[in-house]
Amino acid sequence: MSVDAHKTIIIGSGPAGLTAAIYAARANLEPLVLEGEPSSTSDQPGGQLMLTTDVENYPGFPDGVMGPELMQMFRDQAQRFGAELVTVRASRVDLSSRPFGVWVGDPEASEPTYRGETIIISTGAQSLMLGLPNENELVGHGLSTCATCDGFFFRDLEIAVVGGGDSALEEAIFLTKFASKVTVIHRRDELRASKIMQDRAFANPKIEFRWNSRVVEYCGDTKLSGVVVEDTSTGEREELSFAGVFVAIGHKPNTWLFDGQLPLKDNGYLLTEPDSSRTLIDGVFACGDVQDDYYRQAITAAGSGCQAAIDAERWLEANED
Ligand code: NAP
Repeated sequence: MSVDAHKTIIIGSGPAGLTAAIYAARANLEPLVLEGEPSSTSDQPGGQLMLTTDVENYPGFPDGVMGPELMQMFRDQAQRFGAELVTVRASRVDLSSRPFGVWVGDPEASEPTYRGETIIISTGAQSLMLGLPNENELVGHGLSTCATCDGFFFRDLEIAVVGGGDSALEEAIFLTKFASKVTVIHRRDELRASKIMQDRAFANPKIEFRWNSRVVEYCGDTKLSGVVVEDTSTGEREELSFAGVFVAIGHKPNTWLFDGQLPLKDNGYLLTEPDSSRTLIDGVFACGDVQDDYYRQAITAAGSGCQAAIDAERWLEANED
C-alpha cells in the first residue's frame, strides 16, 4: 500500500533538526521529525547535547542550561507549532525519485514507511571515543569532547587532551586559557597535526606531551579523577591525576544512511552548496554537524536548521505542481 507524502521529513533531532522543525511547522509544512532512538549512541534523540551537562554558551541563557533541558525546550517549541516527532531510527532512504522514501524498521520492505516531498537531513556527527568502560557515564563529569563548551570549567586546574592531530592541539592551545597545565597524551612519538599547530603547541609553556601513551582506563566512578596510561613500547602502566580529560581523536558524521546517494566532501561530511543547505539532489537539504566540519556548535547547527527549513519551504513553493 502506498503511503501519503509529507511536505517535509526531518531526519535527526539535535539543535539543527528541531530548529528546522520549528521553522517548518510555523511555515505550515507539517514536518515529520524522525528523532532517532534512545538506545543508539550515534543518533539518539536530541543529539550530542544530550551527552552534555552545563551549556554556558547558548545565547539566551545567561545562567547556563543543562544540555538535555535545552533539547527538551527545543522539542516543546517544535511540538507547540504542530511538528510531529516520532522516536524511531530511519533504516534506509531512497532519494532517487520524488516523493522520497524513508524506511523505519526492515530496510528490505518493499514500500517505505514514510514519503516526503522534501527531506531535511540533520543526523549530526559523533565524536570518536576511546571505547573504554564507564566512558558514556563520565561524559559531562570531567570527560569532554568539546573544549569550547567545557574549557571554562577547568580554570587553574590540570587537564589532559587525548590525540595527536590538529583537533587535539587546537583544543590543547585553547584550554591553556583556563587550565594551569595541559598534558597532551598521544599514542605515538610523532604528531599527525600540521607543522604550524605543532610549533604553536611546542612553544606554549603550559602544554606538556606524554608520548607513546595509550589511555587504558578512566579513574573515577561518577566523576573523572584521572586516567591510567600504558607505555606503548614497555607496556608499563601509570595512573595520572587530571581534573578533566578532553578526547580529541576526530569526529564521524552520521552519513551511512545516504551512502552512494549523496556526495560527500573528502573528509566524509555531506556536501552542500556554498551558503545554502541544498544538497546535489533537488528537494534534499542538509544542516547541522552532518555537513559542518568546521564550527560544530549547537548555535551554528540551530542557525543552519533554520536555513534548511526556509530553503525547503521556498523549494516547495517553486515546485508546487
Ligand atoms: P585526525 O587528523 O584524524 O587525528 C586524530 C588523532 O587522534 C591522531 O593523532 C590519531 O593518532 C589519534 N587517534 C585516533 N584514534 C585514536 C585512539 N583510538 N586512541 C588514541 N589516539 C587516537 O583528526 P582531527 O585532529 O580531528 O582532524 C580532522 C581533520 O580536521 C584534519 O584534516 C585536520 O587537519 C582538520 N583540522 C584542522 C584544524 C586547523 O587547521 N586549525 C583544526 C582541527 C582539525 P595517530 O596519529 O597515531 O593516528
